[in-house]
Amino acid sequence: MENSVYEAVEIGRGSWRIEDNGVRALLFAGSEKALLVDTGFGNGDIRQVVEGLTDLPVTLVNTHADGDHTGGNALFDVAHMHPSEFSFYFKSAAPGSRVAPLWDGDTIDIGGRRFEVVHIPGHTPGSIALLDRSNRILVAGDSVSATPIFIFSEVRSLQALELSLKKLDSMKGAFDEVYPAHGPFPLGPDTPGNLVRGARRVLDGEVDGRDMPPDFPIPAQLYDAGDGAMFLWNKIG
Ligand SMILES: [Zn+2]
Repeated sequence: MENSVYEAVEIGRGSWRIEDNGVRALLFAGSEKALLVDTGFGNGDIRQVVEGLTDLPVTLVNTHADGDHTGGNALFDVAHMHPSEFSFYFKSAAPGSRVAPLWDGDTIDIGGRRFEVVHIPGHTPGSIALLDRSNRILVAGDSVSATPIFIFSEVRSLQALELSLKKLDSMKGAFDEVYPAHGPFPLGPDTPGNLVRGARRVLDGEVDGRDMPPDFPIPAQLYDAGDGAMFLWNKIG
């Protein structure tokens, strides 16, 4: 398989971001295990990339089950994700794919490094963030981003996202950096709070939506609420 699609960049000791054409996976190496967060589009062999960076056994976690985050899952034995993602995941997952549940408050311990699971529904029903309190990092998937956050199908909800972002904002004393899966990296600890205010302005009808180009496949409008808060929304949920 072609592996030049990936670019792995070290972002700290035992930490890498793996860029895959606009989406980003993350790899963290502990003393016993490595944690891979998401597997990109699946156009190459991301497992080979990971094994080139660490010899440790790899635990795969998905922040959510959208295709740009689970494309390489078939290269791993088990994908850990919130059970609210299972039904959507199995609509497109390779036959025989195995999953394991991650619940709010669960901890992933890779040896000398722990990540707490925070359930943050909105972008998808089972979206999660991972909080590493020792290194003061929040891994946020698509739920915190400086690029437009997609909230346009019936399973996505801007009101749920607003509540989840409030939850993250209430935890901001525990992190200095937010690691998003798309766009500028990293983001500051005020980003969830800025997105809360932006989501509220959109829900209150204070922001005009802009039509997407006619070839855009999804009926949704782009709402730019300022302060880096952008949502692609269809006014449902
Ligand atoms: Zn995504």
